[in-house]
Amino acid sequence: MSSKIRVLPEPLCNKIAAGEVVERPSSVVKELVENSIDAGADQIFIDLESGGRKLIQVIDNGAGMDPQDAFLSLERHATSKIVTDEDLFALHTLGFRGEALASIASVSRFRLRTSASDDGLGCEIYAEGGQVKNTAEVGLPRGTRIEVRNLFFNMPARKKFLRKEQTELGHVADVVTKQALAHPEIHFRLVHGTRTLLDLRREAALPERVAALLGKNVLQGLLPIEQEYDDLKIYGLISQPSLSRSSGSHIYTFVNGRYIRDRVVQHAVMDGYRQLLMKGRYPVAVLFLQLDPAQVDVNVHPTKHEVRFRQQSLVHDALSAAIRDTLRPTRWIETPAGDGDRDGAAVHESPSGLREMQGATPQVAPDRSLPQVQDQQASYRSEPPPAAPVYSPPVPEPDSPPAPASFGIVPGEQLPLTAPMAEEEPFFTRLQLLGQYHQSYLLCQDGDDLVLIDQHAAHERIGFEHLKASFFGDGIAQQQLLFPEMLELDFRSAAALEEHGSDLLRLGFDLEPFGGKSFALKAVPALLAAEQAGRLVVDVALELERIGYSGQLQDKLDEVLILMACHGVVRANQALSRAESLALLRELDGVDFKAHCPHGRPVMQRLTLFEIEKMFRRQ
Ligand code: ADP
Ligand code: MG
Repeated sequence: MSSKIRVLPEPLCNKIAAGEVVERPSSVVKELVENSIDAGADQIFIDLESGGRKLIQVIDNGAGMDPQDAFLSLERHATSKIVTDEDLFALHTLGFRGEALASIASVSRFRLRTSASDDGLGCEIYAEGGQVKNTAEVGLPRGTRIEVRNLFFNMPARKKFLRKEQTELGHVADVVTKQALAHPEIHFRLVHGTRTLLDLRREAALPERVAALLGKNVLQGLLPIEQEYDDLKIYGLISQPSLSRSSGSHIYTFVNGRYIRDRVVQHAVMDGYRQLLMKGRYPVAVLFLQLDPAQVDVNVHPTKHEVRFRQQSLVHDALSAAIRDTLRPTRWIETPAGDGDRDGAAVHESPSGLREMQGATPQVAPDRSLPQVQDQQASYRSEPPPAAPVYSPPVPEPDSPPAPASFGIVPGEQLPLTAPMAEEEPFFTRLQLLGQYHQSYLLCQDGDDLVLIDQHAAHERIGFEHLKASFFGDGIAQQQLLFPEMLELDFRSAAALEEHGSDLLRLGFDLEPFGGKSFALKAVPALLAAEQAGRLVVDVALELERIGYSGQLQDKLDEVLILMACHGVVRANQALSRAESLALLRELDGVDFKAHCPHGRPVMQRLTLFEIEKMFRRQ
């Protein structure tokens, strides 16, 4: 009987390896740029066509290869970077597996031109699907140029997985951003067609590179971190708690110069910020961990994005301690970060109705008998709310000071609101208002029960409902800014804003692209304070980015509107007059709680007479 098992031919092996290493254009860029960095280049230019589908070209001025090495470089497991087993645990280079070039060549039309000498001569190898078709001597300065055309031309299944041009481009920009952060001394340029997306000149140090990539105002919100524990060195920049983001995508971590996304490291970072950031907020951080290569295994995953530390908990604890130490309030004076979010630092005055402090425990257990806040799936996605009646802002009592523009109410304007169910008695208006507690809670009586209302949560809830109603109605009213605010964003956020321009218009923003990653913010939603709008746009951009380029705003609308409601809400710890409190209750009746409620804390809690009497041992 003939054997069923056979050793696969080399070209097929390469294709299989390519499956692991080459997922999309950005993976090609990652591998090629890593090679250029390993070759000591200080200038790396990347050109793409059609998001990298048609062409990916990487040109460097590194050491180059002589003709013999150039041929070898396309062989699988051909590497100049390791020789022995021991080398694998003492890596000083980004590459070592020796399979990137072979893999990439096996799934593309591949042209390598390289020269290791100063005589102006180099060699060229052209391959299709991994088969060398042509070689030649060419005129070339020292360095390497690699052209990858028609990626996956011979793997239609894989090609189908490629996304829209903008999406692929976003991934590439992401890869380049990470490499550029790790190497301020290298000039990176990323060009798509005729458009220059990134042009990052050589910089002396990380802060300048961060300013160029993430914006000068982000840099202002960052603190240098530098700590050494035995043979672990931690350095970089981390955000003051006043600068935060709604996703973790701005936490960049590097181990021995290699970008990694590691659970242990990620956890340690968040741990360092514990109690300093609101739930759902993430810092901005560019963090480098330097340790003995023998202490870390990078050969865990083909893309080398994961690592394994020998002393995992040691690294974790050192990192979070270093962050905590850097953030100790005595060590810094808060600077007004341009687009920072201050609610993290100002814990006590945060309008946190929809969020909780991390690690904080809820004060009162939710009562199931409440007529409110059940976490239901929003049902409005398919059906906008019914035509809304006109809501009149409450008129303050004559003897009370004028009410502060309570959230969502533009003085003098009539706002449409979702209709309360006609047959229901308005619940909140029915309550008997007893007073205000701690400038934060309304105390009310409902029959025999004591009802506590978190006024800030209530404001946010109302704001949210207002926004949603107007979003589905006539659109969210805009307010022109007297002086347009200039926003400087990172590439992905900028791309997301451009992609979702019309969505933003519906949300009440008017943003004009101003070249590169800059935008002029010309109008904001009418109910937002103008000075908060800039940082809100950054948060909204992050949310949009998470939707993806082809995604629908509808899928994330709740989150975006919650963000807007949080930003727009009135300050906490605010004394409310009786008239204002009553107005708030009336407004609560105006919003439709049952139909859909965003996630978050309850707006109210109820204590029954029985529970209160039990507290006093009367029951
Ligand atoms: P690895 O980087 O894991 O060694 P690759 O397949 O990426 O494997 O590259 C194979 C070899 O080709 C490298 O070890 C290096 O010697 C050489 N090489 C690749 N790209 C370049 C470049 N841009 N400049 C100089 N040498 C290169
Ligand atoms: Mg490599």
